[in-house]
This record gives sequence, C-alpha cells and structure tokens, in this order.
Amino acid sequence: MTYHADEKGYYGQFGGAFIPEMLYPNTEELRQNYLQIMEEPSFIEEFHRLLQDYVGRPTPLYFAQRLSDKYKTKIYLKREDLCHTGAHKVNNTIGQILMAKRLGKTRIIAETGAGQHGVATATVCALMGIECVVYMGEIDIARQAPNVARMKMLGAEVRPALSGSRTLKDATNEAIRDWINNPVNTHYIIGSVVGPHPYPDMVARFQSVISEEIQSQLLEKEGTPNPDFVVACVGGGSNAAGAYYHYLDNEDVGIIAVEAAGKGIHSGESAATSALGKIGIIHGSKTLLMQTQDGQITEPYSISAGLDYPGVGPMHAHLYTSGRGEFISITDDEAMTAGLMISQLEGIIPAIETSHAFAIFDHRKFEKDDIVVINLSGRGDKDLQTYIDYFKL
Ligand SMILES: *Cc1c(COP(=O)(O)O)cnc(C)c1O
Repeated sequence: MTYHADEKGYYGQFGGAFIPEMLYPNTEELRQNYLQIMEEPSFIEEFHRLLQDYVGRPTPLYFAQRLSDKYKTKIYLKREDLCHTGAHKVNNTIGQILMAKRLGKTRIIAETGAGQHGVATATVCALMGIECVVYMGEIDIARQAPNVARMKMLGAEVRPALSGSRTLKDATNEAIRDWINNPVNTHYIIGSVVGPHPYPDMVARFQSVISEEIQSQLLEKEGTPNPDFVVACVGGGSNAAGAYYHYLDNEDVGIIAVEAAGKGIHSGESAATSALGKIGIIHGSKTLLMQTQDGQITEPYSISAGLDYPGVGPMHAHLYTSGRGEFISITDDEAMTAGLMISQLEGIIPAIETSHAFAIFDHRKFEKDDIVVINLSGRGDKDLQTYIDYFKL
C-alpha cells in the first residue's frame, strides 16, 4: 500500500491526465523526461545549491515554547515563511525552471489567481534570464495590485484573461491555449500539486525537501525523525504534500490537513473541497472538487486567497477518501483569531493560509508528549491589509 503516485500518476482512483488531444505532446515530453532529469547528479547539485544559497534553505525547525505551553503539547514550526519571497512556493518554481532549461525551453508561462505563484515564477525567470508571461484574470489584476507590480518589476509580462468570470480558471484556460500554440519552446509552470500527470508528482517531489529537512532536524532535536503529527493547510496542496512526503507511507505519523471553511462549511461560501467535493475533473486531473448537481464547478470562497481553490490535488483526495489523512475545516474567523494569537505568542505574523493550520488546537486535543509539526507555509506581510481591516488595527 502506498500513498505516492503510481507510474500513470494515480493516487488510488485520483489523478491521471485528462487533457485535450492537442496538449498531449507537451505533457508527454515532460512525463517521459521528468524522473530521469530529477535523478541526474548535476540537476540535484544545482537544485540544492539554489535552495541553499538563493532560497535560504534549510529553513529552521523551531520549537514554539509559548504555543506548546498554551496547548500542553510539543509544537514545532517548520519555517517556510523564511524562504526567499516569503513562502514555500519558490521551492517548486526553482525546480521547474531548472527542468525547463534541461528540456531546452526558452520561454515560461504560468497562471496565477492571488498572484503569489506569479511572483514566485517571475522571480526564478529573472534569476535565469528567461522570458516570462503570467496569465491573470482581469478581476484578479485589479484585486491584487501589489503582486502585479512585483511581477512587472521582476520583468514578467502580465496578460489579462478577459473571458468568463475573469478570474483564476479563465487565466488557466488562457495559459493552456498559449501552451498548445507554443509546444516547442515553452514550459508551463504549475504552482501546486494539481494539473495533469506528471505535475502533481513532480511538484510534490520538489516540495519534499520540506519533510526531508524535518526528518533530520527532528532527529537532532528529539532523537527521532518522526513526529506524531504533521499539520499543513491545503489550497491545491503543495506545502502539505511537501511536509507529508517522507511520512506518507509511515502510518506511525499522523497526517492532518486543514481546509478553509470560509464563512462555514454549509454557508455556500467556503473552500472545504474534500468535505464538500465530489469526483470530477479539474485542470486535467480526476479529483475531488466543489460542483453543482450538474457538474459545474462552484466558485470557492475563503478570506485567504491561497486557499480559495475549488479543487484539491489528487494526493489529498486519496488521503481523504482512504482515511489516511485527518481533514479539519477552519472558518475565516477562527483563522484570523489564530493568526493574531501566533503573532503575539511567538512574534511571527503568519500568512492567513497558515493561520488556518494554527486554529486546529481549539478543535483537536493532543497528548502532552505528542510531537506536532506545523508547516508554517508563509509569512503574513502580504496579508497585513486584511488583518488591519479585520481587527481594525
Ligand atoms: C499558495 C499558498 C498556500 C496554498 O497553496 P498549497 O499549494 O496548498 O500549498 C498556502 N500557504 C501560503 C503561504 C501560500 O502562499
């Protein structure tokens, strides 16, 4: 029994590649080459050198004394908020830009909703001197002006998606259209463990540096590589996949996934994809997604832009339905309160996405001796205005 992808990109019944015929050559080239490239010594060397010298890895595993005292258990924070650009997303974009170079690509495209993945992609394109086009819904461009400015400053072209609801899914459609028209010179950097095979597996492998480091850091601090629980928030699922990766098949380690319940699971305004989702196809992958009776994808809602996604990666759909993962949904209010608590208990202002993970301690009790690792996926600077408006600071 394994919770990793099989060679066709399936996690149990989820995953695969459900794509239009015209996209087949693009994903097929990637599928045939990605594992071999990732195993080349020169690739491994360059990836790890950039993670160290450019991203700032390894990120610390920090024992949170005051938080542990409050909840009477041992809580460690994996500090992905200290990565260059302020979140885990850059681990994946570094990996994919090196992959693109090995495949001889000279142009990068990406799609972005809140802009975080667009910024992480524009960053690595600047680093490598490669042309970068980021598709973004016209509505999102207006809502996320600081990230649009960052991408432009980094030299990327931000192209508005003008069709449909002019948000993330329309930007994705534009990016796919671009890729179909430019199959030879262009690589499409997807930002989470979503999309057709091999993306979910490839992105999980790039992010797996997180659990690789947790293992050695915990061994040093606690004399064991294994925590009792590893906890992460789930949007598409990439920071969670990275934090779980080396523990997936070790059932001594509990896996806890935290989803955004928005204004409440049954409010009609939520992004609790696993709890509310049904099997369907989104972005070329068979997974759980929020949809109407007749299969139309429902607009998700969360106060945190990074969790505001109507589906979840196939790894997580499998963890949910198999029972391997424990899924907890947290409302906007609970997350915001937890974000303020962590700021004042530990001196760390978390991204609102991560604040959802911190809110679980009011829902779920742990034993005194339990070692609980929370993946602190990102820092809260980008969310300051939302915190200010919410708390009237
Ligand atoms: C994008 C983002 C997330 C959600 O994406 P995943 O792929 O689920 O990790 C979570 N936290 C932060 C800080 C993010 O920027």
